[in-house]
Amino acid sequence: MKTSIATVSISGDLTEKLEAIAEAGFGGIEIFEQDVVTHDGAPAEVGRMVRDHGLEIMLFQPFRDFEGLPEPLRGKAFDRAERKFDLMQELGAELMLVCASQHPGALGGADRAAADFRELGERAAARGLRVGYEAVAWGRYIADHRDAWEIVRRADHPNVGLILDSFHTLGPKIEPESVRRIPSDKIFFVQLADAPEIEMDLQYRSRHFRSMPGEGDLAILRFMQAVVSTGYDGPVSLEIFNDQFRGGSPKTIAKDGYRALQCVIDDVRRSTPGAQIGPIATPARTKVERVEFIEFATRGAEAAALAALLRSLGFRKAGRHITKNLTLWRQGDIRLVLNEEEGDFAGSVYTMRGTSVCDIGLQVSSAADTAARAQALGAAAFSQPLSPGQLDIPAVRGLAGSVLHFVDEASGLSDVWSVEFTPVEDATVAEAGLARVDHIAQTMRYDEMLSWSLFYTTLFDLTKSPMVDVTDPNGLVRSQALQAPGRDFRITLNGAETHRTLAGAFLMESFGAPVQHIAFATDDIFASAARLKQSGFEPLPIPQNYYDDLASRFELSDEMVSAMKAAHVLYDQDARGDFFQIYSRPFGGGQFFEIVQRRGGYAGYGAPNAPFRIAAQKRILRQSVELKI
Ligand code: MG
Ligand code: MG
Repeated sequence: MKTSIATVSISGDLTEKLEAIAEAGFGGIEIFEQDVVTHDGAPAEVGRMVRDHGLEIMLFQPFRDFEGLPEPLRGKAFDRAERKFDLMQELGAELMLVCASQHPGALGGADRAAADFRELGERAAARGLRVGYEAVAWGRYIADHRDAWEIVRRADHPNVGLILDSFHTLGPKIEPESVRRIPSDKIFFVQLADAPEIEMDLQYRSRHFRSMPGEGDLAILRFMQAVVSTGYDGPVSLEIFNDQFRGGSPKTIAKDGYRALQCVIDDVRRSTPGAQIGPIATPARTKVERVEFIEFATRGAEAAALAALLRSLGFRKAGRHITKNLTLWRQGDIRLVLNEEEGDFAGSVYTMRGTSVCDIGLQVSSAADTAARAQALGAAAFSQPLSPGQLDIPAVRGLAGSVLHFVDEASGLSDVWSVEFTPVEDATVAEAGLARVDHIAQTMRYDEMLSWSLFYTTLFDLTKSPMVDVTDPNGLVRSQALQAPGRDFRITLNGAETHRTLAGAFLMESFGAPVQHIAFATDDIFASAARLKQSGFEPLPIPQNYYDDLASRFELSDEMVSAMKAAHVLYDQDARGDFFQIYSRPFGGGQFFEIVQRRGGYAGYGAPNAPFRIAAQKRILRQSVELKI
């Protein structure tokens, strides 16, 4: 299928837009008249510029308030159409979008509108052009694609067809199955936009809150399945009106759009056997089995301090890399790598933001397929020179310069630990019962959250949980969790709107969307707490008030509350079970570790405890007694 994006979806001037669109990989554009008018150059030059970028103008829009007008308004509408046709010919555009009229003088009646379109079709045909009619959810008479189709059908002109827009069908909850009845040769163009499920005026929602397919709640896949069932294999175009996108980076938005669109096309191919839209060329979404390793870029004294913190958490040094300055730390199924190399990627991460997570390794169903899918969706492959004896482990750049490595059992890549690391005997450490990584928490600017969730959910088989608010005393942080079906992999995306929040302050000092905390799971939080105490681990101190409040919110025995208080354990429960948390003190500008125990299928992340946790962390940061890592 040909891929396209409307120029209105992206910020910047026309040159910036075209560069971003071409670089992202799209085949064409819907050009908005506004972008032609505001460009400093003749329409013919705009057309050349588009083609010089390797792009095709697939649609010119918009043409409004055309059909159903009485004379003399009708004659004037045709005059306007002729002028648009002139412009289209100069541009080299062949198809014009006519959206359903909102003109106060427009008269209803399918035959009247059909007659207008028949004449418009004649005039377009005389110039070798076509027109497409689009129902808009707030149209005066035509607010439903079924009614627009009836007008196109009655117009009965080869140069007049229908334009479908997922927002105008799914936004007002029109059944997408009704698309299946339309002959494919009468569908001239298909526009896709998603949107969040929020109660608000449809027009306002459409003009400000459209999003990329997969970023919202609309049934885009069902809509597209209906479209391809007709045999349609023409352009599929993103028409996204979103204030946040219009303020964002043109390149990021174009890349997100390309990723979203390729993923929808792939999903449609997979779910519609026999669809005439080409073979499946991309490996399916990958199942993340678990976090294989988390790597920190660190150096010298900071590395020693981080190692001491890990020891106090019950980790033991388990291996040393055969050629590089890397050490492997283990406990349960958890692997942490401390990378002190100066010349490689970790070295540059360390230079930019000091000790921090520089790489995440995931155990997946197929490492090669995961990397291939990521690249098909627009991610760049990542590699650095291999030293002798190193395995070539597939890796890609995530967003904002981050790196993800993929290992699997089938190709032997998960043997990397025995192949590349020499075992180290470290019997002095008593493990604390930390069994596996429960979740990784990444912090980013609020306006980057959609990009990140799109990146992860298009690559991996993950479900999104609803966005929750995390209350920081200095502002709000939004948090969204993504989790694998078996919950063996969980990642939380935390969007900070102000630098005064703990997350925002951490972000200011960092680069990209760094990992701010890692949570380890234990099966017995109190046993772990006792062992951590012995090994000298200092938990984040939680004030008395918290426990008074806890006793009033939940039915907990006095013994339980006392035990939690003694060990600085935080508590939460949901309909399914309960949750215990212990935090480390912050290090490295606001990073921290968390230890959690989930009982009975508790699905959350302890968001109600966040204000207490954040206040306690800020107290420590203010006193400048954070760990010097
Ligand atoms: Mg539209
Ligand atoms: Mg957490």
